[in-house]
Amino acid sequence: MPELPEVESVRKYLEKSLKGRRILQIEHRFPGILSTPPQAPSPLLPVRFVNADRKGKMLILRFDKDQTLLIHLRMTGRLYFPVSAKDLLPHTHVLFILDRGQHLAYSDPRRFGRLIWFVGRSDDDIRELRALGPDALSVSEEGFAHLLRTRNRMIKPLLLDQSILSGLGNIYVDETLFLARIHPKQISSNLSGKKLARLWAATQQILESAIENGGSTIRDFVGSSGKAGGYQQYHSVYGRGGLGCVQCGQTLRKVLVAQRGTTYCPKCQRLQYRTKVRSFKRR
Ligand SMILES: [Zn+2]
Repeated sequence: MPELPEVESVRKYLEKSLKGRRILQIEHRFPGILSTPPQAPSPLLPVRFVNADRKGKMLILRFDKDQTLLIHLRMTGRLYFPVSAKDLLPHTHVLFILDRGQHLAYSDPRRFGRLIWFVGRSDDDIRELRALGPDALSVSEEGFAHLLRTRNRMIKPLLLDQSILSGLGNIYVDETLFLARIHPKQISSNLSGKKLARLWAATQQILESAIENGGSTIRDFVGSSGKAGGYQQYHSVYGRGGLGCVQCGQTLRKVLVAQRGTTYCPKCQRLQYRTKVRSFKRR
């Protein structure tokens, strides 16, 4: 499952590869993967690529004539540049025919991914982008603290909620909470200012180092660069349930938090309550 660092790697790759290129035609090889808004049922082709942007796990490819292509890779979506028709991967559902005889292809065996073509000047016009909370890598420390402090929810499901903060998934939330020494079931409104600052810094550090290392599973999402992401070797907790904590040696515990497999260190990540629990004497 691509998370923010993987999508960011794909974004950088597309930004470089599509520079100055034009899309001449679009071939829908499987219906329902690429959608267009009812008011603009077909893209105004040809279009020239302007830049590649990202919000959370959503890729945003911008073209001239106010045309935008949103790409959500979900589970198995993958973009690649086939040299010719014989190089198409199985499950290639959308083919963008570029100038200079090149192609950009989208394959997706499980077909959970979505491509949405959109015409409009502002991102606010795009419902799919409006529905996302601020991007986890661009949110300010104050903005981040405000999002968490004003909610009364367990921290892990809150960080996974894309409408609150976009981009974090299971791997990076576990890694971030471990680095910040916060229990996954900690109630967000109980976090002190110091912990919120530590959590924000941990988010930035984990995401940036994952991006530097090409994400955890980048091989699955980008075609022709063909490099496997190197980040998985740096996981401290994810996939390490039952093994020793890298900080204290305690056995890492694997539990379910809001239906998601969650690994944490019971010694480094203790549940804390800020409000005093009153004790009542029994009569
Ligand atoms: Zn520990």
